[in-house]
Amino acid sequence: SKAKVFDKESNINVNFNDVAGLAEAKQEVEEIVEFLKHPQRYTKLGGKIPKGALLVGPPGTGKTLLAKAVAGEANVPFFSMSGSDFVEMFVGVGASRVRDLFKQAKEKAPCIVFIDEIDAIGRARGKNPNMGSNDERENTLNQLLTEMDGFDTNSGVIILAATNRADILDRALMRAGRFDRQIHVELPDLNERREIFNVHLKPLKLDPKIDQEFLAKQTPGFSGADIANVCNESALIAARKKKDIIEKQDFLDAIDRIIGGLEKKNKIISLEE
Ligand code: ATP
Repeated sequence: SKAKVFDKESNINVNFNDVAGLAEAKQEVEEIVEFLKHPQRYTKLGGKIPKGALLVGPPGTGKTLLAKAVAGEANVPFFSMSGSDFVEMFVGVGASRVRDLFKQAKEKAPCIVFIDEIDAIGRARGKNPNMGSNDERENTLNQLLTEMDGFDTNSGVIILAATNRADILDRALMRAGRFDRQIHVELPDLNERREIFNVHLKPLKLDPKIDQEFLAKQTPGFSGADIANVCNESALIAARKKKDIIEKQDFLDAIDRIIGGLEKKNKIISLEE
């Protein structure tokens, strides 16, 4: 049987309304939606459609969500995989998976291919001597570069990749004709946190006194994923207390819990360094 190339292969029903805040990033990806929907508009003037864009920003800020929304808005299939799936593979497997990925994507065009954690394969070559041999990863990266150069920009495949470590990426990935566009996805400010709460509070049964402004003020430094977590956690806390609605205190408890989790994570990171 054929090896599975993608984690997911599906039609997506996420759209730009599901992505709160990120006004600039959304505006930039809107053009990709246009390329996918009306390629002739660009090609008939001799323009070359970009092959890919790199979404750069901290964990949980909505990079995957934004990539899915591009597919949803353009109404094209979304294929995703993680760069870390390529590491620790047998010799030759990483490169051949890259080949399969491009082959299958071209068959399904127009489509979006999303590569999460591209830094796992796209780390600068030959810069980490104490990591042992990186030959296999380098082969995989070289294959990715070759495939990106080889496919026709007008084939209808757009590759979106995400990283929170653009600083360690091999410059070759960012060269013209590859991931030559970088889209920054930052942690939300107060206003954006309010908007993200707005999205994630919608499905919840709330005490009508709950206000998003208050919640946004209680959550500086939180990512969109943290906020989604707070909303879900508050529902679980209220349910445990057999309540019919989620109250302010449930949110405060959920926020404390998430802060506790974040602090633990930071402690582990600082111990590692
Ligand atoms: P990672 O770098 O960890 O892969 P990411 O940037 O890809 O993270 P997502 O996986 O897109 O982050 O976000 C996780 C979840 O957090 C989303 O599915 C969504 O529920 C919520 N979320 C994150 N950002 C936003 C946002 N801007 N608007 C609404 N929801 C968001």
